[in-house]
Amino acid sequence: MNAPPRPRPTPPTPEKPLLPPDELRRRAYLVALIGGLAVLIIVYAVGQLQGRGDLYTTVFVPALTVMVLFSTGWLLARRSVTFIERAVFLCMNAAHFAQLLEQSFGPDPNALARNDSPYWMLVTICMVAHLIYRTRLAGLYSVAAYLLSCALPLGGLLLTDQPVSADLVRVQLTAGITLVFVHALSWYRGQFEAQRTRLLLAQQLAYTDQLTGLPNRRGLYPAVEALLTPGAGGAVLLLDLDHFKRVNDQHGHQVGDQVLILAGRLMTDVLGPAGQVGRWGGEEFLAALPATGDTPAHEQADRLCRAFAAHDWPGVGHLTVSIGLTVTRPGDTLPALITRADHALYRAKAAGRNGWKADTDPHPPG
Ligand code: GH3
Ligand code: MG
Ligand code: MG
Repeated sequence: MNAPPRPRPTPPTPEKPLLPPDELRRRAYLVALIGGLAVLIIVYAVGQLQGRGDLYTTVFVPALTVMVLFSTGWLLARRSVTFIERAVFLCMNAAHFAQLLEQSFGPDPNALARNDSPYWMLVTICMVAHLIYRTRLAGLYSVAAYLLSCALPLGGLLLTDQPVSADLVRVQLTAGITLVFVHALSWYRGQFEAQRTRLLLAQQLAYTDQLTGLPNRRGLYPAVEALLTPGAGGAVLLLDLDHFKRVNDQHGHQVGDQVLILAGRLMTDVLGPAGQVGRWGGEEFLAALPATGDTPAHEQADRLCRAFAAHDWPGVGHLTVSIGLTVTRPGDTLPALITRADHALYRAKAAGRNGWKADTDPHPPG
């Protein structure tokens, strides 16, 4: 049996559960779409006030508005987020390059320096690319889209023998630097997420028993310590499989492992929400039973003994358990509680196994 443990640091308290990734994206897009709708309405209104009849104001802005309204409705109806983000990405690309083509091969491609909205559109599209695709792919797309967006007006100028204005070069360079920042931020976010995932995995491994998937000893401490907080109280059951060494000796370690997995499941099923079950070590399991449970701890111990004895263990047949039971006392400490449960378990073994003993009761029933 085990020596009483020294108190250990409790595992970090779980963070507030995060929303599922799809729901997070849905909400972020809804906010972005509503913002985008406001911008489009303003752009359209300003264009009307200025009496602008260009393709951008008369066709693209209304078309983008329809797309934004459609996407908003789609997301509000909770339909596929992936579909809508791909569709919006395609529409934005179509709008961007159509507008760029129109201006690049129009009378004055240098006017793009004054009406630089295609370059802001390009930055927005590349941000969306970094949101929906992996950083590498989004980076490649950004380079290609940027080079094309720079080459089109330069080609238009070349064809019409016009000089390239310094302002156009400045706008193009500004867009390029902004895109480098977007890509660098996305790369940094990827690194940060990878490290966080590794940390969470390491934490999970540190507090989980790899064989049974139950909390290990370290993972059980918070549940046991919760019993000791003032005003709480409860009981601890220390359950040990009887003559488990024989199972290994007669049937092999693999069968023994399977028995341990099933034993953890059976114990969890029998106790249900009444207690926190974990693997204390070897063939010993511990259950922390808060005082709020409907069934007294000794009845739970009794139910466990009967459930294990009645169970047909695959490849093994019959198996019994012994249980040590102890109830929290005022001024209790974790080592004292575990030591009492351990002594009670020792007594249950000494009494012939297949039963439970409480540390306080020298002649328990059964
Ligand atoms: P008792 O009724 O007195 O508890 O007898 P026992 O045979 O159950 O106890 P003992 O301490 O003599 O042996 C415990 C056995 O549990 C020995 C060890 O090989 C086995 N065991 C511990 N951990 C594992 C495990 O992860 N897998 C398997 N298959 N066996 C394990
Ligand atoms: Mg043991
Ligand atoms: Mg044993």
